[in-house]
Amino acid sequence: MSRHASTELLRGYAGGDDLATDVVWAVEVHLETCADCRARLAAEADSVTPLLDQVWADLEPAQAPAPVRRGRWLVTWATPVMGPWLAMTVLVALFALLADLLIPPPLPSLALLLAPIAPVAGVAAAWARALDPAHELVAATPRAGLYLVLRRTLAVLMVVIPLMAVATLTSPLRWLLPCLAFTVATLALGSFVGVRHAAAALIGGWAALVIGPSLVTARPPVVLEPAALGIWAAVLVAGVAVLALRATVYTRLEN
Ligand SMILES: [Zn+2]
Repeated sequence: MSRHASTELLRGYAGGDDLATDVVWAVEVHLETCADCRARLAAEADSVTPLLDQVWADLEPAQAPAPVRRGRWLVTWATPVMGPWLAMTVLVALFALLADLLIPPPLPSLALLLAPIAPVAGVAAAWARALDPAHELVAATPRAGLYLVLRRTLAVLMVVIPLMAVATLTSPLRWLLPCLAFTVATLALGSFVGVRHAAAALIGGWAALVIGPSLVTARPPVVLEPAALGIWAAVLVAGVAVLALRATVYTRLEN
C-alpha cells in the first residue's frame, strides 16, 4: 500500500525547485520514515552537496538544529485549499450575526443554529483529496494520515469556536458539545463514505431537519436545549470510538 516519492519529486526537492509547500512538507514527512527514499535522495543530491547537508540537518534534528523552513508550520496545520473555506466561514458568521441583530426574537438565533455545523465544511476542506496535490504522498505516509487530519481539524476548531462564540453572542456551552460531536461525526462517517460526502450529508441533514423547521416554526430546536447535551455527549463518544477503530482508513491510500 505504501507509495514512495517519485524520482522527479526527489530531484526537485534536492535541487531546491520551487515546489508547493504542501508537497515539500509531504516529502519531508515521508523521508523521516522511509530509509529507501532517503537513500534515493542522497543519490539524487550527490550533485548538490551543500543542499544535502541541509536536508540531513532537517532529517536528524539530534545532530544539528533543524533549519526553520518558511511556511512549514502552516502546512502542518492547514492546507492551501482551506483559505477559501476560512473566508466563507467568516462571511457566514458575520451574516448570521447581522441577521440576528436585525431580526429580533422570537425567531431563533441563526448563529446558534449554524454553530454546531460550523466546523464541518472546514474539516472537509482539510481533507479535500481532489484539491490537495500532495494528498497521495501524505496519505501514504503511516504517521501522516490520521494525525494530519486531526491536526488540521484542531486548526479548524481553533478558528471556528472563537468565531462562533462572537457570532452567537451566547456562551459556547450551549453549542460546543454539538459542534464537537459534528466534527468527530464528520471524520467517523467520512471513514466510510469519504469526508466530503459525510460533510455534505451532515450539513444537509442538519439544515433540513433542524434549521429549516426551527425557522419556520420560530422556535429554538429541542436538540439545542440543555436537556439534549447527554445525547450529544453520546454521539461524541460513539464518534471517537468509530474513529479509533477506523483510523487506518486515513493512513492508507484508496484506489
Ligand atoms: Zn519512500
